Amino acid sequence: MKITFHGAAREVTGSAHIVTINGKNILLDCGLFQGRRKEAFEKNRNFQFDPAKIDVMLLSHAHMDHSGNIPTLVKRGYKGKIFCTEATADLCDVMFQDCARIQVHDVEYINKKRISQGKAPFEPLYTVEDADIASKHLVPIPYSKPFKIFDNVEVCFHDAGHILGSAFVEINYKENGTGAKKIVFTGDIGRRDIPILQDPVVIKDIDYLITESTYGDRKHPPAADAKAALKAVVDKIFQTRGKLIIPAFSIGRTQYIVYLLNKLHSEGQLRTLPIFVDSPLSSAATEVYRKHKECWDAAALEFLIDGHEPFDFEKLRYTESVEESRTLNDMSGPMIIISASGMCEAGRILHHLRNNIEDPRNIILVVGYMAENTLGRRIAEHQKLVKIFGTVQPLRAGVEEIAALSAHADEFEMLDYFDKCGASHIEHAFCVHGEQNALEFFSTKLREAGMQNVHIPSPGDVFEF
Ligand SMILES: [Zn+2]
Repeated sequence: MKITFHGAAREVTGSAHIVTINGKNILLDCGLFQGRRKEAFEKNRNFQFDPAKIDVMLLSHAHMDHSGNIPTLVKRGYKGKIFCTEATADLCDVMFQDCARIQVHDVEYINKKRISQGKAPFEPLYTVEDADIASKHLVPIPYSKPFKIFDNVEVCFHDAGHILGSAFVEINYKENGTGAKKIVFTGDIGRRDIPILQDPVVIKDIDYLITESTYGDRKHPPAADAKAALKAVVDKIFQTRGKLIIPAFSIGRTQYIVYLLNKLHSEGQLRTLPIFVDSPLSSAATEVYRKHKECWDAAALEFLIDGHEPFDFEKLRYTESVEESRTLNDMSGPMIIISASGMCEAGRILHHLRNNIEDPRNIILVVGYMAENTLGRRIAEHQKLVKIFGTVQPLRAGVEEIAALSAHADEFEMLDYFDKCGASHIEHAFCVHGEQNALEFFSTKLREAGMQNVHIPSPGDVFEF
């Protein structure tokens, strides 16, 4: 067995690892690189492996940094199946389409400049047609149902409790002359008590572990604190009469926030103010959340049985057209706008930030991870000046953060999880999907927890067992 690391190795985006068993290449995830634009542009276009030589792909979940480059993979020659959970397949359908439109739009913008400079235009990373073709490769499989991908290689998805459909990927295999072994790839690890979702499933007897490390050096407040923290920020915006701008991942965070606001509303704790979800992708993803009730936890189902629609309530509106989105500029506060993209790299959130970032009555609420070199990170760091659409603007709006809304387990939650899995059984652990400090700190903690060999792979590193 051989593992080759291609993406999310000593960084947070572009998740892609290849496991080779009995000569067959299994690709785990195929995410988009995000961050410095030029670097991301190059990396997303140029795979460090030949897509035609991949035999099968297993996808952990629908977040862009895990799935967003699948249409490029198919465009560059991948012919096989892409196994994932049912909810992930539905989320990918809407996400690929949306991402393709962004890619086409971005390239049009760049090309205008290039053509005026006499340079050759770029092709979009992928188009809506490419996205359609890629979606046809998705093969949905329910949770906890083992399936064979090759002789002596069986896979099972387990609920990772991170976003709807998110899975831990378990691979059980036998190679010539060796006993049965188990590899687990975590994708992203969720948390207990995340709204709507079930808790992460414990997997025993792991031999090789590839684990995310995003918050390997942090402690979050409990997920159960998020509702009260959200109420406090809403109360504040009600007083300033400003706009509460929430950049939120379309898949996951947006639905958690809507659900918590709905809960507050049903308990009579929410101030009366209009709330808008202003992102076509977020609206489409919410539709998938409505559909896949098999992924909901008991509390969300009870809320439904009690007569509530978890993602709809009075005062909440999902905007549709660009015109409707624009009318939000002219409305006065107090109001809440939840928009995407989560790291403020694209989408309608950029317009809302441009229009509202200079007014001290407004608040920008950070509810998720902001990768290095993104606008979201600069805002989260309270930088005095930020660049939006190429123009430098002063950041005068308030910036607040609710860490309890994180959909990633923190150091203690991950250690607790691996303790339940049986940390000392793990022969080799690989820490990926983290920034340098988190990776180093977390790898030390895993060693202390009893894992025998803990590695931090770099891009291109190969480990053979
Ligand atoms: Zn994720």
